[in-house]
Amino acid sequence: MPEIQLLDQATINQIAAGEVIDRPSSVVKELLENAIDAKATAITVEIKDGGISFIRITDNGCGIEKDQVRKAFLRHATSKLHTIDDLLDIGSLGFRGEALSSIAAIAQVELISKPPEAMLGISYQIEDGEEKSLTQIGAPDGTTILVRNLFYHVPARKKFLKTAATEGNYINQLMENMAMLRPDISMRFINGGQNKLYTSGNGRLKDLIYTIYGREISSNVLEINYECPLFAVTGYIGKPIISRGNRTFENYYINGRFVKSRLIAAAIEQAYKPFMMQHRYPFTVLHIKIKPELIDVNVHPAKMEVRFQQENEIYELLAGAIENTLRGKEFIPDVSDDG
Ligand code: ADP
Ligand code: MG
Repeated sequence: MPEIQLLDQATINQIAAGEVIDRPSSVVKELLENAIDAKATAITVEIKDGGISFIRITDNGCGIEKDQVRKAFLRHATSKLHTIDDLLDIGSLGFRGEALSSIAAIAQVELISKPPEAMLGISYQIEDGEEKSLTQIGAPDGTTILVRNLFYHVPARKKFLKTAATEGNYINQLMENMAMLRPDISMRFINGGQNKLYTSGNGRLKDLIYTIYGREISSNVLEINYECPLFAVTGYIGKPIISRGNRTFENYYINGRFVKSRLIAAAIEQAYKPFMMQHRYPFTVLHIKIKPELIDVNVHPAKMEVRFQQENEIYELLAGAIENTLRGKEFIPDVSDDG
C-alpha cells in the first residue's frame, strides 16, 4: 500500500491558489476588486504578454500600513469580514482573504503601498509565498502591485493558458466589465504598451457604452429605471435591432458585482422574446440591486455565481421592467404578497 503523507505547505498553497487564480485575468480581477474596495478613484492596469509575464495595477486608494503588509499576504487574512454574519450585508467585493496569498504562491510579487496619512511607503517582495524583502521607501499615496511570471514553476497550470493574445483579450473584456460596473472610477488599461481603454470616471454609464461599444450601439439604447422594495434595476437596454448571436452583449451586475446568473439571463431573454428572433440575444447593461438577505454571493471562490431566494419574484420583476421599458410603458408589477 502506498504510504500516506502530508503535503508540504508550499504545495498546499499552490493547490489552494488554483481555486482562485486560474489565469492572468483572475489576477487582474482580484487586484481590481482590491483597488475598488480600497476606495480608489483612479486605477491603472498594465499588462505585457497577455498578463503572463507582467501585470501591474496602480490605485490611489487607502493603501496598506507597514505593520499590516505581511498579514495581507496570509491566507484567510482580510480586513473586510469578521464573522459569517457579515456576509449577509457585505459591502466589499473581497471578503475571503485569499487573493494576495494565492497570487504570491504562484508568481513573483512586488507591492508598493502608502496610506495617505503615512510619511513613507513600503516596498514588499514575495515569491513562492516566501518573503524576499520589506523596506521603507518614498511612494505616492495608494498601492501598486506588480505580478511577474505567473505559474512560472507550476507547469501543470501554465500549460492550460491560451496564447498571450487570447489571455490579453480576456483581460480587456474584464476591464470593460469593471469600467461599466464603476463608471465613477477612472480606469486605464494598457496592453503591451498600447492604450486599450480609458474612462474618465465621470459617473455616466452612457458615456462608457459609447467608449466601449461605439456610436451605433450607444445611440440605440433605452434607459431603464425601476424600483420596488425587493429589487431595483437601472442602466441601459438595447433596442431589439441591436442584437448578437450569443450572450456576450448581456452585461449585468448584482449589488455591485459582476456575476453570471442563469436566472437573470433567462429573465432578460424572456422580456425580449416578443421583439427578437430566435437565437438572437439583446444588449443590456443592468445594475441590479436586490435585498442582501435574498442573495448569497459566497457560492464559489471566484464569486461569479450568485444564489437567490424568491427567484420567481426577481425573475418576474426584472422581465417586467425590461419589457415595459421596451414598450415605453410604466411597469406596475402584479406580484402577490405571499412570498
Ligand atoms: P480580501 O480582498 O478578500 O480581503 P485579499 O487577499 O485580496 O483578501 O487582500 C487582503 C487584504 O489586503 C485586504 O483585506 C486589504 O486589507 C488589503 N489590501 C489588498 N489590496 C489592497 C489595496 N489595493 N489597497 C489597500 N488595501 C489592500
Ligand atoms: Mg481581495
